[in-house]
Amino acid sequence: MNLQRRILLIYTGGTIGMIKSPETGTLEPLDFDNVRQHVPELRELDYEIRSIQFRPPIDSSDMRPVHWARLVNIIAEWYNHFDGFVILHGTDTMAYTASALSFMLEGLQKPVVLTGSQLPIGVLRTDGKENLISAIELAAAQDEQGHAMVPEVCVYFGSTLLRGNRSTKASAERFDAFCSYNCPPLATVGININFNRKVILTPEADKPFAPHTELDNSVIAITLFPGIRPQVIEHVFEMPDLRGIVLRTYGSGNAPQQPWLLNAITGATESGKVVVNITQCDAGAVEMGLYETGNQLLKAGVVSGGDMTVECAVTKLMYLFGQGLEADDVRRLMTTPLAGELTT
Ligand code: ASP
Repeated sequence: MNLQRRILLIYTGGTIGMIKSPETGTLEPLDFDNVRQHVPELRELDYEIRSIQFRPPIDSSDMRPVHWARLVNIIAEWYNHFDGFVILHGTDTMAYTASALSFMLEGLQKPVVLTGSQLPIGVLRTDGKENLISAIELAAAQDEQGHAMVPEVCVYFGSTLLRGNRSTKASAERFDAFCSYNCPPLATVGININFNRKVILTPEADKPFAPHTELDNSVIAITLFPGIRPQVIEHVFEMPDLRGIVLRTYGSGNAPQQPWLLNAITGATESGKVVVNITQCDAGAVEMGLYETGNQLLKAGVVSGGDMTVECAVTKLMYLFGQGLEADDVRRLMTTPLAGELTT
């Protein structure tokens, strides 16, 4: 019986596979074969590793919901053939992709690990090799019963494995580019791999794997700042095709108590839009009952996004509206954890 674990690498692009163009001096994506050539160590891993690549590979700034659907389709097609999946992805929008996939891959029982690098794989000091090799190890890791150690969508970067929908790109410079301010790491990689079993989700054994590819991108994220013009808010909140608004407020979910803002929110809520409150702070959660400024938002129909990241709140709205749900159901589910994205 062949017990060798099988890993599918999906290469979408990003710095890990880029090379400096001699003509323009900018970084341009390479084919996966070129990437693979730089990591001969892959042959030493005792796994069967197969790969699929986006053609052409893309800078992750160009990622769109259609690409997330493509990733879901690939994983769904090969789900029964592989023990784990590693997605090579640019860092810029990796947290959005990880968040979106965490909802789209409902009932996931296998690891989906996203990784990339800050320096291209062909550069001497690249962080890409370690990230790729460890991501494969993490995707292949199993417990004593042969179950996946991390049956979740995760981001691996700079020796740390994070829950995908809790991660955010925090540095454009450091090798540990990602942070998860409101959820501890799922694993840390040093001499040994230390799994944080208390934090890793346990999938419901009898829940079937149900991949979803429908997303509705009629959503927006708005950051409040002192002096924001009422006309801007009113214009956005009255947009007829908009269905979901992520409002990035101050501190524990506070916003100015100006009538124009509360009227705009009430109007949007009454017209069936879902307004979700998340904080601009990196760490901590929205608690709208704490100050009168937050309480006013609650009365105007805003729902709390708790401690969700902006990447998570935006993609969760896209996912819920994509399922054809009514506004009230979307409001209810925005405050319900679906994939470990929210502390309750
Ligand atoms: N612009 C690149 C991308 O996101 C940056 C990176 O991969 O680090 O594709």
